[in-house]
Amino acid sequence: MAVSLTGTNLHLAFGTNKVLRGVDIHVDAGDTVTVIGPSGSGKSTLLRVLNRLHEPDQGDILIDGKSVLKDNPDTLRQQIGMVFQQFNLFPHKTVVDNIALGPRKLKGLSKEEARTLALEQLELVGLAHKADSRPGNLSGGQQQRVAIARALAMKPEVMFFDEATSALDPELVKGVLALMADLAKGGMTMVVVTHEMGFAREVSDTVLFMDHGAVVETGTPEQLFDKPQTERLQQFLSQVL
Ligand code: ADP
Ligand code: MG
Repeated sequence: MAVSLTGTNLHLAFGTNKVLRGVDIHVDAGDTVTVIGPSGSGKSTLLRVLNRLHEPDQGDILIDGKSVLKDNPDTLRQQIGMVFQQFNLFPHKTVVDNIALGPRKLKGLSKEEARTLALEQLELVGLAHKADSRPGNLSGGQQQRVAIARALAMKPEVMFFDEATSALDPELVKGVLALMADLAKGGMTMVVVTHEMGFAREVSDTVLFMDHGAVVETGTPEQLFDKPQTERLQQFLSQVL
């Protein structure tokens, strides 16, 4: 069953740099929320606070409406799969071993069980035929699909994507976005930080525009892209569209 994720009034400062200034975000179970905004606006930090890699100075994080801040942070981290711009695959391990590693080490699966699970996930991302290749022999797009399979193998309740396609050559972006769209349609709860406005418009249930650590506008893709209310969003869209 999919879960909902909520962050309320999230604040975080690094020294005197107030990076999050009271951010509210809600992702309904099975929905996709896309976060857009200029570089340095706090998007990556928001994701890191939402999975408690940074503890918020103020605010709350809730799963299915229940605060998780008193729980062990590992509990939340294990519920959330993350995919970054850099794939961070182990170059000397095969593709299937890269995926099997987490389930073996963190979930105690046997070697056989972990391999079976890893092959299933590879099948899902269309790369079963690359199981025994090394990451370096795959294209960037294929490596990112392996990184997604690796996250999915941990059976997360929620997936975070932080500019997952930003490091890819343009012709490889489409395949990764298509996979992300499939996951979204399959009912995964997702938070996606992206510069791909086409994806944001077509796949998200809600779009959130951040600037200087705050949510400036939030709404449906139609609301934000067709009727931006603030000059800041209008300006941002005129630069990226
Ligand atoms: P975005 O992802 O929107 O580009 P970030 O969340 O990466 O923005 O960064 C927002 C601000 O937080 C920037 O000013 C950045 O320098 C600062 N920042 C991010 N991470 C750290 C950190 N670990 N320590 C200090 N400052 C940080
Ligand atoms: Mg970022």
